[in-house]
Amino acid sequence: MRFVTKPDNHKTATLASQDTANALLDIATNMTKDDITDAIYRESYGNPDEKRSRVEDQLALSYYNKCAYCERLAKADIEHYRPKKKVVEDNTHNGYYWLCYEWTNLLPSCVKCNREGAKHSKFPILGIRVYTPSFLANAQLNLNHQRAENTPLLDEMPYLLHPEVDDPEAYFDFFNDPSGDGIRIRGIDAQNRGNETIGICLLNRQELRLERVENVINPFKQAAESAFAMLSIGIYDEDQFDQQIIFQLNQLMINAKNEKSTHTLLRKYIVKSHQNFSGIVLPYLSSPIQSIVLAAFKSI
Ligand SMILES: [Zn+2]
Repeated sequence: MRFVTKPDNHKTATLASQDTANALLDIATNMTKDDITDAIYRESYGNPDEKRSRVEDQLALSYYNKCAYCERLAKADIEHYRPKKKVVEDNTHNGYYWLCYEWTNLLPSCVKCNREGAKHSKFPILGIRVYTPSFLANAQLNLNHQRAENTPLLDEMPYLLHPEVDDPEAYFDFFNDPSGDGIRIRGIDAQNRGNETIGICLLNRQELRLERVENVINPFKQAAESAFAMLSIGIYDEDQFDQQIIFQLNQLMINAKNEKSTHTLLRKYIVKSHQNFSGIVLPYLSSPIQSIVLAAFKSI
């Protein structure tokens, strides 16, 4: 997960339309959950070759085709961050039906984070649960109260972090799985929101642990090891080898700043300090080049 800015003007024309506002007011006023339609919150193109949707494409402008939760490049479900029809943790709750078309409540989520025992209708909170929409004196919806970054929704203090509201860098670190099965993410905040988010979206599933290594570590490892092989057989001299290592380290740093990269949060974590770099990257390198690479990292 990484922090994302999602502009309001990326909203689809349908979501922004007066017709949708009227339909939403009816749903919110009468709690007519059966009227909630994916023709509005998803808006499929109806293309026979693939199930892409207009909302998905608009979310991809800010999320660069990545899942909001795990940062894989993946086909996205249109996920209601606050579930629209029921809440697993509270069977007296009718779901956040009044947020069914709310832009800040729509996130792109891969199937693995959203279904298959993962997030779905889970929404545990630390704070005060909101059960009903807020209306103004003229019986219109209070649109400020619809937004995830505003009270009263903010006061719910959801365990699940919201990539447009919370800064994930303050909630997570990473470490190598002790049995060598990839890289694990770990919550570090006192309120346990990081760890709860990991549990809700299954962010330590094996597929993700291994993909973090494959996408983030292996390109660097292969380049560094091949430079060392060139040095060993005399094709590179010491200077050329050092330059290659510096070049590859710079690539790591550039990719960490590139929001289009997969697993941006891990990439940022790795290059943040030589301790993080040592802990995560060095164990994947052969022992002769570990100290060389660490010294090069400290030098840049
Ligand atoms: Zn995902």
